Amino acid sequence: MPALPTKLPNTGTTIFTVMSALATEHGAVNLGQGFPDFGADPALLQAVTDAMVAGHNQYPPMSGVPALRQVVAAKLNGLYGSAYDADLDITITAGGTQGIFTALQACVGAGDEVIILEPAYDSYDPAIRLAGARPVGVPMTPDYRIDWAAVRAAITPRTRAIVINTPHNPSGRVATHDDLLELQCLAEQHDLFVISDEVYGHMVFDDAPHESVARYPALRERSFLVNSFGKTLHVTGWKVGFVAAPPALSAAFRRLHQYTVFTVHTPTQHAIAAYLANPAPWQGLSNFYQAKRDAFRAALAATPLKLLPCEGTYFQTVDYSAVSDLPELEFAKWLTTEIGVAAIPLSVFYQQPQERRHVRFCFAKRNETLAEAASRLKDLAGRP
Ligand code: GLN
Repeated sequence: MPALPTKLPNTGTTIFTVMSALATEHGAVNLGQGFPDFGADPALLQAVTDAMVAGHNQYPPMSGVPALRQVVAAKLNGLYGSAYDADLDITITAGGTQGIFTALQACVGAGDEVIILEPAYDSYDPAIRLAGARPVGVPMTPDYRIDWAAVRAAITPRTRAIVINTPHNPSGRVATHDDLLELQCLAEQHDLFVISDEVYGHMVFDDAPHESVARYPALRERSFLVNSFGKTLHVTGWKVGFVAAPPALSAAFRRLHQYTVFTVHTPTQHAIAAYLANPAPWQGLSNFYQAKRDAFRAALAATPLKLLPCEGTYFQTVDYSAVSDLPELEFAKWLTTEIGVAAIPLSVFYQQPQERRHVRFCFAKRNETLAEAASRLKDLAGRP
């Protein structure tokens, strides 16, 4: 057999797969990989069956079922005052990760640099490398805000794009109006594409707005906005999302999409279109997760873990320095095997591993699951 040359020589198995396998092996409460442990609305599940029975089982149009693209465009335009066109600007994808991947392949290539803000979600780096470009990691501030001075300093004549993510995974921080103005100014000044990962956009707490790139016309013009129905509708395994981008960007995106994914599961698209039409299910999502955040934080207050701010997403980051000196990956594994609660180390989200004694818990879980995890974490008190 010939050798199998890899395009990703330094890339191992994603941390989410590693920690979920370890959690299963040790019977740990899995607060590592981000996914709900509760069911979706039965009406949504029924809508998939209905769509299949109604005969929606063949290829849909390459860019997605028209009814779903229309619902998405109407939703974005209603929420953010944008003017996306359902036919030209919206493409249904096989989840957020594919949207990010294809957007990057569409806008960067050999010799280009792409800025990512660290800690950065782990799919960005390999997606940029596979496009032939170079990921340039720019650390966020110590309290996980975007360090715009550092971003500016990292820009070179080769910088072609920047990936942003708000609400931010893993930190749970939310970008502000000023952040988006900075981004807009910088993107225009240096003629950059923007890949905006907004998959947690319907999980923003304490009445703060979600600062989508769609709100900013000059930014929208150069952005691929990525979202995921899996997060919004509690069905992460369905792998259905969308990319919204102006016509030229969407055309470039679709040129690649047609030969990689081609189309996404037809009945699911019909079901989501019908379900989203009435009433808008995302409206209660921030309150739903804010209540979980508050309950989880209250329960963790009885542990020696220090809670970092959580402004959005379904992730709570904690500082465990009062408990252990172990590096983050080792601590997360120890926590899984010895305490019975799986977590994600933040150190894996950097090009040059950082050790800040921070791990991330997912609170998209039933209240009983969160209570069980918190009760196990109480055992951390008095540990070396
Ligand atoms: N986005 C999820 C998380 O951050 C993981 C998705 C995956 O496992 N690829 O936990």
